[in-house]
Amino acid sequence: MMRVWSHRPQFLHLALFFAAYVLGSGFAQLLAIIPGTGISIWPPSGLFIATLVVAPRYSWPWWVLAGCLAELLSNVLWFHSPLPAAFLIYTGNALEAVTGALLVRWTCRRPVRLETLQEVLAFVVLAAGIAPIVSATVGSATVSWFGMLSQTFTGAWPLFWIGDATGVLIVAPLALVVIQNWRGTAQLSAARWTEAAVLGLIFLGVAALSLSGYLPFAYIIMPPLLWAAVRFEFKGAAVALTVLALIAAVFTVSGASQFAGDPESQKHRHIMLQLFLAISAFSALIVAAISRQHQLAVLTLRQSERSLRELVETVPALIWCAAPDGEPIYFSQQLRDFFGFNVEDKDVAGASRLSGVLKAIVHPDDLPTVKKLFARSLSTGEPYAQRHRLRRFDGEYRWVEMRAAAMRSGDGAIVQWSGVCIDIDDQVRTQEELRLAQDNLARASQAASLAELSASIAHEVNQPLTAVMANSHACQRWLTAEPPYLERAQNTVESIIRDAKSASDVVGRIRALFRRTVQPKASTTVSSVIAEARDLMAEEAARRRIRMDAEVASDLPLVALDRVQVQQVLVNLIRNGMEAMDSVPNDRVLRMRVRRVGDTVQTEISDRGRGVEFPEKIFEPFFTTKELGMGMGLAICRSIVESHGGRLWAENNEPHGATFIFTLPVETKAAP
Ligand code: ADP
Repeated sequence: MMRVWSHRPQFLHLALFFAAYVLGSGFAQLLAIIPGTGISIWPPSGLFIATLVVAPRYSWPWWVLAGCLAELLSNVLWFHSPLPAAFLIYTGNALEAVTGALLVRWTCRRPVRLETLQEVLAFVVLAAGIAPIVSATVGSATVSWFGMLSQTFTGAWPLFWIGDATGVLIVAPLALVVIQNWRGTAQLSAARWTEAAVLGLIFLGVAALSLSGYLPFAYIIMPPLLWAAVRFEFKGAAVALTVLALIAAVFTVSGASQFAGDPESQKHRHIMLQLFLAISAFSALIVAAISRQHQLAVLTLRQSERSLRELVETVPALIWCAAPDGEPIYFSQQLRDFFGFNVEDKDVAGASRLSGVLKAIVHPDDLPTVKKLFARSLSTGEPYAQRHRLRRFDGEYRWVEMRAAAMRSGDGAIVQWSGVCIDIDDQVRTQEELRLAQDNLARASQAASLAELSASIAHEVNQPLTAVMANSHACQRWLTAEPPYLERAQNTVESIIRDAKSASDVVGRIRALFRRTVQPKASTTVSSVIAEARDLMAEEAARRRIRMDAEVASDLPLVALDRVQVQQVLVNLIRNGMEAMDSVPNDRVLRMRVRRVGDTVQTEISDRGRGVEFPEKIFEPFFTTKELGMGMGLAICRSIVESHGGRLWAENNEPHGATFIFTLPVETKAAP
């Protein structure tokens, strides 16, 4: 009870409801033109259900009370039924409203806006179909019981039901619009207002012409009615339906419309009018719901498209898309900023956009490779990945990692290429600087140890040689003296022999120093060492734009080798080959071949450089033709290969280039 009191509606709202109820009853009375029935479209049913659907449950008794007073007043003003009969009929109406509102609230989301097809169908079936059964049953029973209007129960029931159902279909949507947008402001653009005005005029014109009998067919109102439902959704449908019902009522009451006729056919025509309004309402509400759902779907799609675009624009990478044939179709904002132009800015009549864009952005040295690899991906559909330089808007070329993959449809056809491009210029430059620093360090330490070594050799050998020189002069003097001092000469020669031996010992010691300490050799396959050396040199190969091809026989036997040393040999030979191709403009390929030849595993490393002029001299220590060369690499390589029991030599290729070949003997007994 307390809750009912605390949920009492505002007096103004109750008064408005009361007034609308009474006016609706008056409208029904006006339209009750079927001779002897007094029953017609009943607008209060729609008003009542819509009010209870929206109002809090605890406030319902207030609305029921207000409805009761309104109905009793209407009875006094128009219907003049016996008070108990009027009260019973109202009880049926109130039960109908409560049933309809409960069912609608139970099935639809709150607040009930009739925005989905499901909600509209539920509303039509439950509120306009089922709920009027209650009022029709109670009303017809009352009418027949009290013997009013000489109606039987079965004669009155269908008229009651269809009258209430039409009232619900026409008035409830309008009531929902009015109640839910009571304080809302219309947010229509000027164009929409214009469209609404034009539509309103057309609607009024067609409705007036068709319902006053000038146009033969009432249903001709459907196009403008559905236009209102599609473009202005639920509100448009509700307002249009109300206007349609009013115009239909006016022309029918005045006898002008096709729904008015002689007393015999009036009942049939009236039912036709109610059907016309019910079908119009049903169609308009359904179309409004479909239009609303479509609008919501479009909004959701736009929303997700916007968030996806924002994602693409804010990801810290340069993103692009291309059509299936590779023609660029989209650059992300960051990519546009990087290039300083947009995807269509390089379009030239008669030339493909792809070639225009590639020419504008890819470094000329990298362009042939990029074109070749991209064309291969386009034809095979395989992902594209390549490091190369791209021209920034300020003309600076920057190293990037470019990757692209095909986006496919359900049937596997390529619908688009999506690519990402990451600026790795700083990383590449740091690596380059690191490599240079390492090279310089290695060179400096080599030079330093060589200088130290030379100084110590000079020092150690110089002493006995100086003694040999001095003793030789002395010996010469003793032998040329008159008479010669043979005994002294003899002693001096012995000193000379001793000093020479000491010099030879020094050289021997130095050789022993150079001789590598013998490392235990492990059985392994040359192919695995080749793979490691290739990995080590891959970065340098990419930097120098050299392709490394390896052809390794599958049935290689095991070889006992010092992995680190053989790797050193390979790295040395590979680097020499790469350096030899520095002056070659293109087609830089370094080929490695490993196969078994007799009892040896033979490794060949060939390049396409200028070849070697002195195939034997180059193996001598300190022989170099390079400005900063040391001339020790090949000498060390040969000593390593020979310490493994193999051979290393060089041959020139036809038409150009050199091949360095070394053999390693196959292990005869199985490795532990
Ligand atoms: P360095 O690398 O200091 O020059 P190396 O012993 O590695 O010392 O090479 C000696 C010389 O052999 C080089 O200076 C070069 O003239 C020549 N040489 C080595 N490899 C090749 C090659 N693949 N093609 C042509 N000449 C080569």
